[in-house]
Amino acid sequence: MPRYAIISDIHGNLHAFQAVLKRIAELNVHEVICLGDIVGYGPYPDACLDLVVKYCSISIQGNHDEAVVDPFCAEKFNGAAREAVYWTRDVMGPLHLNALLSLKPSATIGNSVMCIHACPFPGPTDYVHDKQVAAMAFRGVDKPICLLGHTHVPMVFEAPSMDPNEQFTAPELVAYLPQDDIPIKLKPKRRYICNPGSIGQPRDCDPRASFAVLDLDEETFTIHREEYDIPAAQAATQEAGLPTILADRLAIGA
Ligand code: ZN
Repeated sequence: MPRYAIISDIHGNLHAFQAVLKRIAELNVHEVICLGDIVGYGPYPDACLDLVVKYCSISIQGNHDEAVVDPFCAEKFNGAAREAVYWTRDVMGPLHLNALLSLKPSATIGNSVMCIHACPFPGPTDYVHDKQVAAMAFRGVDKPICLLGHTHVPMVFEAPSMDPNEQFTAPELVAYLPQDDIPIKLKPKRRYICNPGSIGQPRDCDPRASFAVLDLDEETFTIHREEYDIPAAQAATQEAGLPTILADRLAIGA
């Protein structure tokens, strides 16, 4: 059974993405899976998309990818996010925009894994950042493992049953805050929501790029953090004329 590198929320940060790809090359994985938000916020949308096309066997569409090619979606964004979406749309080439348009909203791997960018079940929020939201999200999880991104925070939620029709309350779930390089064991007869964190704009107060390895043989999900040249990424963000806050937040990981 394969080992997968799971990446998400690259957000046009080429410096972080290149560092992560270098590390992934050393981790003996069979495939790389991208959970979306390849672009938006960062200054290298085309280059990041090129690398996703080159290295990822599955790549799904995130809300920023969608907003860049759908003006109606872009209007729902605020402040710096919206400004970055408009900037990204202006600088991307037509073939790259077309490639963003053709990304699918979800994917599955065999009978055991589903991939989506945000929340698999509609509700008041699509940020699966706590047990309350995860309890709702599990209603949309019909495989043992659901991979998702969107919150930019690496996290694992465990539900106490394999039955997709069974609903849970927040206290019935287990939430794991993954630590760098320490595998989380995925137990049998449970269901999981696993978030690899963000490559290009981490928001858990650790500025290092975040990604994960899902090993279906060992039945583990392991977060890895990778240092990269943050000052260079910040300088490129400023030089591109993107909002200053998008450069500033890279240094604090928030
Ligand atoms: Zn994102």
